[in-house]
Amino acid sequence: MKLHLSDEDVAFREEMHDFFTTQIPQHIRDTVAARRELTKEQIVESVQAMNAAGIAVPNWPVEWGGKDWTPLQRHIWHEEMQLASVPVPLAFNHSMVGPVIAAFGSQELKERFLAKTANLDIWWSQGFSEPDAGSDLASLRTTAVRDGDDYLVNGQKTWTTLGQYGDWIFTLVRTDPDVKKQAGISFLLIDMTSPGVEVRPIELIDGGHEVNEVWFDNVRVPAENLVGEENKGWDYAKFLLGNERVGVAPVGSTKRTLSLAKEHAKTAGPGGTSLLDDPLLAAQVADLENELLALELTALRVVANSADGKPHPASSVLKLRGTELQQAVTELIVDLAGPASLASGAGEDSDVPEWARVATPNYLNFRKASIYGGSNEVQRQIIAGTILGLRG
Ligand SMILES: Cc1cc2nc3c(=O)[nH]c(=O)nc-3n(C[C@H](O)[C@H](O)[C@H](O)COP(=O)(O)OP(=O)(O)OC[C@H]3O[C@@H](n4cnc5c(N)ncnc54)[C@H](O)[C@@H]3O)c2cc1C
Repeated sequence: MKLHLSDEDVAFREEMHDFFTTQIPQHIRDTVAARRELTKEQIVESVQAMNAAGIAVPNWPVEWGGKDWTPLQRHIWHEEMQLASVPVPLAFNHSMVGPVIAAFGSQELKERFLAKTANLDIWWSQGFSEPDAGSDLASLRTTAVRDGDDYLVNGQKTWTTLGQYGDWIFTLVRTDPDVKKQAGISFLLIDMTSPGVEVRPIELIDGGHEVNEVWFDNVRVPAENLVGEENKGWDYAKFLLGNERVGVAPVGSTKRTLSLAKEHAKTAGPGGTSLLDDPLLAAQVADLENELLALELTALRVVANSADGKPHPASSVLKLRGTELQQAVTELIVDLAGPASLASGAGEDSDVPEWARVATPNYLNFRKASIYGGSNEVQRQIIAGTILGLRG
């Protein structure tokens, strides 16, 4: 789809396209395009290239490295990055803890953390979820008890994505057990090298180890690491989760993956023939392209309506459809690979092409997309209540 952009926005799109296709190292873009797992170093290198150009944290206050861009420009920045196979900045730093510290942290916390967070000199993990506290996050049980100048933290977090790389973890902890559950929670920053912090890997269905459990056993955390006021953490978490749902529909990367799928389809038939001649497959691809186009238009409508900087409730629609389409495309690629998709364990010297070897692990990995960032069932509840007015 070609949008009718203003001359200024057309120039902006070109500027972003040029930057992402020339200034981010090719080996990183190749890794993303091949849907291989990125290393920590690759993610850091990519963010640091963006930060050096001043475009790593455009959503932050200008004073801390943000850009005074319009919501449409931010959308274009995000989309061009995905179309160019550039990894999006680490959400934990970029759209979660950074904006929270900038909005609610003390001046001391801002000076201590924001520049390093923007440059990924500190790799943050998100320590919110616990067993029995995912969708019902306010039920969390990890405690932080004041002891002199410190808090003593005990408990367990789970599903901590890329926690194995984490330098620091931002957590929600219970500081008052005697009030309504939302009212007794605080937002605490914890150095993951502190004695008593243990990160235990969880093996996922695709064989990868991108999520972890994080255990806290009498971890001593200086009270100055509290963000904002004690027992106000739920407000900061709601602010953070609102940001998390902005830019959640990865239209750019799904479009790119679908166009690669079409390329693969051209030779995936018997004897290297094109599967695009199969009317059923052609219809399936056309259907996905149309759905993506509709999602892209919806994303632009949401962008246009969130000019006050607040997340629009329709971002739940983007999360829901965005993840459904992301999953549908990964499924299509497994279908295209056919029996070759079983060769996921084969090495580089295998006759099976790489795209077919990564098809099944990718398909399995993306089952997560409808769970994290607020499960799709919960998004449906939000859509029913907030947008359709169907509160029961
Ligand atoms: C791969 C992955 C990475 C993650 N990374 C992180 C991370 O880095 N840090 C972090 O803090 N958390 C992380 N999470 C946790 C994630 O936010 C939670 O898994 C998610 O909020 C769902 O919570 P739950 O797993 O406890 O499921 P539950 O809330 O127990 O839900 C179980 C089922 O019930 C449904 N359900 C629950 N409540 C409702 C409702 N009100 N209406 C309708 N249906 C409902 C759910 O949709 C789901 O199908 C990650 C999760 C995954 C899968």
